[in-house]
Amino acid sequence: MCKYLIQPQSDIRIDVNKGQKIEIIDVDGGQVADFFAEIKGTHDEYVSPSVTMDCNESLKIEVGSIIYSNQYNPMFKVESDDVGAHDLLFPSCSKKMYDFFYQNGSNHPNCLDNINHALGTERTIIQPINFFMNTAIDSNGKIEIRKPLSKAGDKIVLTALVDCVLGISACSVSECDTNSGKCTAIEVKIY
Ligand SMILES: [Zn+2]
Repeated sequence: MCKYLIQPQSDIRIDVNKGQKIEIIDVDGGQVADFFAEIKGTHDEYVSPSVTMDCNESLKIEVGSIIYSNQYNPMFKVESDDVGAHDLLFPSCSKKMYDFFYQNGSNHPNCLDNINHALGTERTIIQPINFFMNTAIDSNGKIEIRKPLSKAGDKIVLTALVDCVLGISACSVSECDTNSGKCTAIEVKIY
């Protein structure tokens, strides 16, 4: 087994083989992990939350759900989940997002730059699976980001269905409830 610690507001790249388990742990609780991945050997096929919603016919992922690529191929299966609230709607935070909401994008750590750094890409927007992010949607379509439901040590476990490269970022938003008002670490185990 390999263990990795993603420091607060930081990223990691991990190569994973088909069949391996990926355990993503919220070390202190209340922290979002932006999870993105590419099929090994290409930047053109990658995790797609919108295709995942399409194929699963659901706004949510839960135990048994498949996470799909932008080319409609299965990439991961959810094996277990301590939390039950994850987000498929929001793009990674970015300099432009911080400027839009808080006018503080310059030099602010952000998940877009982090994941681009991890994967050696220059994408202008990244749509990750936001593990532990707690998005509430009311009947009028209004969306509200609430504090994550994850407690210290809570985890979600995936099986990789293909060889792939992970780019994961411990989200850097401290300005609102996304990460409970403070940024903490994420641990990843591969086995
Ligand atoms: Zn973020």
